[in-house]
Amino acid sequence: MYKSKAYSAASAKSPFAPTTISRRDTTEHDVQIEILFCGICHSDLHTVRDEWSEFVPTVYPCIPGHEIVGRVTKVGTAVSKFKPGNLAAVGCMVDSDGTCPECHAGLEQFCRNMVLTYNSPDKHLGGVTYGGYSDSIVVDERFVLRVPSNLDLAGAAPLLCAGITTYSPMRHWGVTKGQKVGVVGLGGLGHMAVKFAHALGAHVVVFTTSPSKKEDALRLGADEVVISRNAGEMQKHASSFHFILDAVSADHDINAYINLLRRDGNITLVGAPSKPLAVAAFALLFARRSLSGSLIGGIAETQEMLDFCGAHNITSDVEVIPIQKLDEAYERLLKSDVKYRFSIDMASLKSE
Ligand code: NAP
Ligand code: ZN
Repeated sequence: MYKSKAYSAASAKSPFAPTTISRRDTTEHDVQIEILFCGICHSDLHTVRDEWSEFVPTVYPCIPGHEIVGRVTKVGTAVSKFKPGNLAAVGCMVDSDGTCPECHAGLEQFCRNMVLTYNSPDKHLGGVTYGGYSDSIVVDERFVLRVPSNLDLAGAAPLLCAGITTYSPMRHWGVTKGQKVGVVGLGGLGHMAVKFAHALGAHVVVFTTSPSKKEDALRLGADEVVISRNAGEMQKHASSFHFILDAVSADHDINAYINLLRRDGNITLVGAPSKPLAVAAFALLFARRSLSGSLIGGIAETQEMLDFCGAHNITSDVEVIPIQKLDEAYERLLKSDVKYRFSIDMASLKSE
């Protein structure tokens, strides 16, 4: 074991504080990474504040972070894909059993034995896994991704969650040129969804509760922007969408969006509000609309997404912050005041 600097939360109500944690020594299949940037996902906030306690209770101290990019510092003897000095990235998962049908299908995120990057039982050291709000991490090479060299690293970090979470359902539901695609909520996930839908050739409509984000939405690739609190504006789009991605972090009326789908249209939920959403059966029945969910994406697809971003020069629009500003960043995240992802510059941890 060796020591690594990190920031942790001691309880759902505690501010973040600097700490020192143990990381395992590299075993033969492991890659040790010096973390350079880590994005802040709203899931980090839900977890730190124990808002998902019904599904996954948070174990404290909690060290979140699953949008990790860095440089390889050491590799195990059996590692073939990476060597010291390479850029590398880690997303929301660090292990799975590798034997079940989900793993065989390249859908490790649905493996019953999948291990999350943080707040999952740690089979190596006991306790729970610790995430990327830290200066170093050790991960099995199966869960380490390659970062295209042309991408800005601070903006590449959020691709590991916000990127794959929005890319995967669009690929699954076949978003393509000529389709009308809606994106609900222009936050970290939403703004990546706009970039991908635009790159895939769709006609993109953003639904936002924040009128001040209108210009940004158009710059990011939206063709139209609807202020979702305006019923008249919503009504203009009734029964017209092929696909809608809902990336809202809080309670909201999903029926307002189901009604905007055309026949056989699909709305996929990626947002994960802690309370159940009420769904009107009739909104689905008429026009055979469907509602589904999606969870991040498999490792192969995550690499495909990173390569797609390399080819199209897509990164997240980030506000780079020192790790000392975590609490402030969380408060702003809650107010939908992030343009459009916070990315922690881990150099700031060196002064702790
Ligand atoms: P975020 O940056 O905070 O963005 C959420 C956006 O939702 C806000 O910017 C805001 O957009 C909108 N919003 C917030 N409160 C709202 C309300 N009360 N009513 C209507 N709209 C509201 O969060 P994020 O990091 O993108 O994450 C979004 C959600 O996805 C979270 O619940 C997160 O846990 C979840 N998530 C799921 C997965 C997955 O695998 N499925 C992966 C990552 C994250 P406007 O200002 O445009 O209205
Ligand atoms: Zn995330």
